[in-house]
Amino acid sequence: MIEIPNFVPSEVCLRCQGCCRFSEAQSSWSPNLTREERRSFPGAGYKLALEERGGGFVCSQFDPVSLECRRYADRPLECRLYPFVVHRKAGLAYLAVDRNCPFVAESYGSPFFTGILEAYRALCVSEEFRDLVRENPQIIQDYGGVEIVSPIGI
Ligand code: SF4
Ligand code: SF4
Repeated sequence: MIEIPNFVPSEVCLRCQGCCRFSEAQSSWSPNLTREERRSFPGAGYKLALEERGGGFVCSQFDPVSLECRRYADRPLECRLYPFVVHRKAGLAYLAVDRNCPFVAESYGSPFFTGILEAYRALCVSEEFRDLVRENPQIIQDYGGVEIVSPIGI
């Protein structure tokens, strides 16, 4: 499994409750699975199923009681990558960041976040990451409204 730095503190996410919940049944933000990940989610297609709950939708792996992911230790690449995403623009793949994540909004421009951007720029041009994206084009999506950080080179 590719190493992805986890920089958003879990207590911030538990307060925010933004991830894992979706406003639409067919949301481009719901997790896409890589070919390898599909094997560990029996019955899943290239997207994890969503379940209707409280007027919206939640990921089928989300535990509404603990508010945690049941598969946190081996959650999909896209979940480990967010608030970064693999964004498609004019047929090319870019690493982009979602500034709507409250933690990104608060820390953007700080020396801490500048260091995170550097770490992710290095990650996204690594051969391991490029190969993963090349082999899994379903994870490249037009997310609209995200900020491009770096071309991935594919
Ligand atoms: S939007 Fe950001 S702060 Fe909120 S749960 Fe997701 S990663 Fe955490
Ligand atoms: S797999 Fe886990 S982390 Fe990813 S969206 Fe579903 S509940 Fe959230």
